[in-house]
Parts: sequence; C-alpha cells; structure tokens
Amino acid sequence: MEQDFDVIVVGGGHAGCEAAAAAARMGVKTALLTHKLETIGVMSCNPAIGGLGKGHLVREVDALDGLMGRVIDKAGIQFRMLNASKGPAVRGPRAQADRKLYREAMQAELQDYPNLTLVEGAADDLILEDGQVAGLKTLDGRTFQCRCVVLTTGTFLRGMIHRGEEQIPAGRVGEAPSVGLAETMERLGFPLGRLKTGTPARLDGRTIDWEQCEEQPGDVKPVPFSYLNQEVSIPQIKCHITYTNEKTHKIIADNLHRSAMYSGNISGVGPRYCPSIEDKISRFADKARHQIFLEPEGLDDHTVYPNGISTSLPVEVQDKYIRSIAGLENVEVLEWGYAIEYDYCDPRDLKATLESKRAGGLFLAGQINGTTGYEEAAAQGLMAGVNAALQAKYVDNSVDDSRETLREDAQVFTLDRADAYIGVLIDDLITRGAPEPYRMFTSRAEYRLRLRADNADQRLTDKGIEVGCVGVSREKAWKAKSEKLMAAREMVVSLNMTPNELEAHGIGINKDGQRRSVSDLLAYLDIGWEQLEAVWPQLGMIEPDIREQVECDALYANYMERHEADIAAFRKDEALALPEGLDYADIGSLSNEVRAKLEQARPATLGAASRIPGVTPAAIVALLRHVKRKDKKQKNAA
Ligand code: FAD
Repeated sequence: MEQDFDVIVVGGGHAGCEAAAAAARMGVKTALLTHKLETIGVMSCNPAIGGLGKGHLVREVDALDGLMGRVIDKAGIQFRMLNASKGPAVRGPRAQADRKLYREAMQAELQDYPNLTLVEGAADDLILEDGQVAGLKTLDGRTFQCRCVVLTTGTFLRGMIHRGEEQIPAGRVGEAPSVGLAETMERLGFPLGRLKTGTPARLDGRTIDWEQCEEQPGDVKPVPFSYLNQEVSIPQIKCHITYTNEKTHKIIADNLHRSAMYSGNISGVGPRYCPSIEDKISRFADKARHQIFLEPEGLDDHTVYPNGISTSLPVEVQDKYIRSIAGLENVEVLEWGYAIEYDYCDPRDLKATLESKRAGGLFLAGQINGTTGYEEAAAQGLMAGVNAALQAKYVDNSVDDSRETLREDAQVFTLDRADAYIGVLIDDLITRGAPEPYRMFTSRAEYRLRLRADNADQRLTDKGIEVGCVGVSREKAWKAKSEKLMAAREMVVSLNMTPNELEAHGIGINKDGQRRSVSDLLAYLDIGWEQLEAVWPQLGMIEPDIREQVECDALYANYMERHEADIAAFRKDEALALPEGLDYADIGSLSNEVRAKLEQARPATLGAASRIPGVTPAAIVALLRHVKRKDKKQKNAA
C-alpha cells in the first residue's frame, strides 16, 4: 500500500520532537503533525530542564542521540549541578532555560532534519484497519496514510483550564483542546482518566524589589548536558529566592474554597511532588514559609517565573497573596496562574515499546501516559519513535494483500531497569499505571550506582548504534571517547605501588604489603588525582572528562560487584517471558484481586508481574509453576 509516511508523530512538545527526530534518524519517512509549527518546543510551564532523576533522563536521551541535551546547552542561562556535594550517582544536572532560545533551538534542529516533514494541523481521528493503524484524519479534512502513529498530545486531550470559578476549554493557555482525538480514544476503548497540573503567575522582573530577595548564582563552570559539548557559551544569569509568609498563608487559607482544586470543580489528581501553593498551605500547615525561586525566563525577556506558587485561585486572590511576598509588593503580573485538567490514557494499556495493546502501530508517549515533566516526555518520545520506526521497517510487503503484517524477525527496542532511568520510567508506567502524575526521582531506580548521569553514554550509546538511532557524528565522537576511556582504564589499573613505595611519595595507607593500583587508590576518599599525578606524571595525559569518569568508576568499584549480582538476579526474572495470551483464570491459586491486577497489566515477564502493586510473592510462585508446567506440556506434546 502506498503510504504518505511511515510514521506520523502527533504533537510538537517534548515527547513529539524526540519521537519524530528518533523515527527520522532510524531512516523512515516521518511526519511531525502539530497544531502550530511556531509552538514546536514550547515549554508549557517552568523554563528549566533537568534536576534529580530528570537530569539523568536528559543525559540518556542524549546518549541515544536525542535532541534535548543539545538544545538546552544552546538555551541554558543558569546551569547547576544539584547535589554536587554528594556522590556522582545522585547528582542531577539542571539548567534554567531561556524560553525563546529553547524553542528556537528545537525548531532549528527539526527544520531540515533528514527524513522529517513538519506538518501544521490538528489530528482529529485515527484510521484503523483490522486493529492496525492505517492513517489519520485532521480537523481540516485531510487524510494521511501511514504505518504507525505516535500520539504525544500532552495536556491537550479534553484540556480544561481552571482559575477560581472560571473554566476555559484549552490544551494550555491560549490554545484549543483536542476533543476529537479524545473521543477517538474513548471509542477505541482506551482506559482514560483525568489528571491535573498547574502553573504560577508570570511576573514582570522590572517591578520586583530584588534587594529583598536572596541571590542564587549558578555554577561557576557550567557543565553541559550533551556528551557532544565541552562547554556552554550562553551568558549565565543569577536567580533569586524569596519566601511566602504568614500573611500569604492566611490569604490563601481564607480563600481555599475559591480554589478550583478545593471547590470540587476539578476531579483529576495533581502532581504530589509539584504541589500547588494551596496544597502546600493545607498539607504542610505547620510550615511558616515556603521557598519561591524567582527564575528569569530569558536573557532579553523581563518575565520572571516564580517557581513554587502554582495555583488555581481566582485572579483577585492571586493578586493579593503575591503582593504579600517580600520583594513582590509592587509587582506587575503579566499572566495569571491556572490549573489544567486533561484526559490521559492508562499506561498499563501499553507494551514496553510504548505501543498500545489495543491498536497495532499506535504508540503513546509523554503526558498523555500520565507523566509530568519535559524530560519524562522526551524519554518516552524517543523510545516510541524508535519502536514505531522499527515496526514500519519490519512490515511484510511480500504478501499480495492490502493487509500488512509484521515480519517474524521484527525487532523492538526496550531498556530495562538496570539499563537506564528510561527503563525504570517505562516499566513503572506499564506495570503500576499512573494514578497520579508520574515524575522521575533517583529513588525510583534500584540500580542507582550504575545508572549515573555521568555514564549514560557508556550504558546506552552502543545500544543506540546497534538499533540505528544514533547518527554518524555521535557514533564517531562516542567511538573516539570510548577508545580514550579504555586506554585510561588500562593505565589506572596497571600503574601500582606497594604501601612503602607510596609512603616515600607522601601517601600513607595501611602497610599490608599489598600493591595498590591507581584505580584502587582513587577509591580512598582522602587520596586525590593530583597527588597520584605527582607520583605518576603520565596520568596528566588523561583528558579531564575521561579522568572524571575513571574517578567515578573507581569510587564505586567496590560496591559494583554486589550491584552486578543483584542485577543478574533481576535479569533472570526478566528473562522469563509470560505468554501473551496467558489465561490467568487457569491459575487456581490466585486470588480474584491478584488475578484482576495481572489481567489489567498483562505483564510481559515474571519480573514485571512481581512489580505490580498487590501481586504477592506467593502469586509469583504460582505463576512461575503454571508457566513452567504449561511449557513442559507443550514440549512433551511436540
Ligand atoms: P506538550 O509539551 O504538552 O506538547 C503537546 C503537543 O501536542 C503540543 O505541541 C500541541 O500543540 C500538540 N497537540 C495536541 N493535540 C494535538 C492534535 N490533536 N493534533 C496536533 N497536535 C496536537 N511539568 C512539570 O514537570 N512540572 C510542572 O509543574 C508542570 N506544570 C505544568 C503546568 C501546565 C499548565 C502545563 C500545561 C504543563 C505543566 N507541566 C509541568 C507539564 C509539562 O509541560 C509537560 O509534562 C510536558 O510539556 C509534556 O510534554 P508532551 O510532549 O507530552 O506534551
């Protein structure tokens, strides 16, 4: 069948941009269909990328040759390594973005991207043939044929803005919601739910009394996100901090009944870890003040984003409480805060490739799956884009039939919980669902010592090269780095001395007669690289970024053995695939509750089954026995 495109990505947000670019890098004919081309790469809420756990995701997207890391490096106006004083495993790169520069850099990336066509329009309906995606229709009456669709519609599905008693149908402020597509999803039987999120007012920085606020500088030497960049060349700015106070809290508490969230107008669940100011006041009533980061939105923009006071209170209440805050007494508000409620699809309806279990060739990524945040969206977008492209590539055209089927050798691209935060994110979504907006944290990952932000390229770039989503220049850069890494690692394990020899150089360690390599010595917290370089001057030949890597590896070397054993045990369970059509009713010893949970999630592996909340260890044993018994029976029959 003649196709207009192999893959159509709907939405030009953070998931959509990565999905479209990834599919295009895979070499398939891709379209990015979005409401307005000029809103591609828009940051709907806070102008910042990264943070704890989120920064790890950006590095992983970058390691797979995604866009987000390079784009923020072109737009970041304040870089900060969060948790810089702690171990590398929990450090989180974060950058405040110039909103306009970010959007422009993303649009510039996609403008002439090989294999990618940018199309303006609103997707209104999907075309399915025999349960498989065949194309889509737009609101203005166009029809496009394609093999796969990736939906990344963010907060737009039946989006409704709330501000006090006011309600405005919108995908985000000033933009119409997607109603047709939400109806399509409903018609196709997708399990839809409602979630909500909110945003604060935007302030005119020229009317803030900065003297009353604390300064918050960025890092002296900004560390870029992308492995392809050595430095950041954008001018860096300061942010400021101010606080709410008792008066602010009283105004909010007195008007709580007028907040859309508390008046009963909103039924959707909000992000627990990014609460509105109303939530903070009522949930943490004992706190005398809450911190507000005043973040400039751009180098040539006076708009300031007050991070920490998102709200759905009416305008007059916002006006009152904002003015009660130190430094904001005479502030001019440029845009009022609001909450938005939207439909999302229960991600338990997805496979690990992010393809729907309900409709072949339909992939979902980003906020539509119940996540919140640009980084979570980008990570899913990349994975969905790669898998949609793989599916389009493995279509069997040899059969003379209008129906197309997937070839036997069709590949998929998945990452597990020990590979990447991306693996943790997708596994959490498809096994646990998103009863509340899901955001990434380092605490969600079991194998944190391995999943570091500094080593995402080592974990993932080769996998990306193998599947075909890494372009030539990244591959070249990675190969060169990897050779240097190998040489440096050889050097640090081969150079060694006895304690007595080390003592002669002023390095005192336990005199047990054991020779210790540079790598061993780097694990001592009180021995630094400079000391060792004075002993072995050839260490000076190792470039700074390679040196940093070698230092991190050495720091964790002693813990990694145990970690690797845990990972091996985890992967053993992951390797035990559960048959797709498994009838859970056949397993007599399962309780009705556990059976219902397993039927809903239909986990692909025993490991995934064990992570579904409420599925007991006894149920896992019963499941394992059942699958083994069935397998044996089948083998005997054969
Ligand atoms: P989006 O960035 O929303 O992009 C969706 C894209 O799809 C848009 O380009 C849109 O035009 C397009 N689109 C939608 N429907 C169609 C259609 N039918 N046809 C064609 N194109 C379509 N995240 C946080 O981490 N913390 C927060 O505090 C936070 N607050 C937020 C507050 C608000 C008010 C909003 C709107 C979002 C907030 N977010 C927050 C979420 C963050 O903006 C999203 O998680 C992120 O942008 C999701 O990326 P996405 O690609 O899934 O969707």
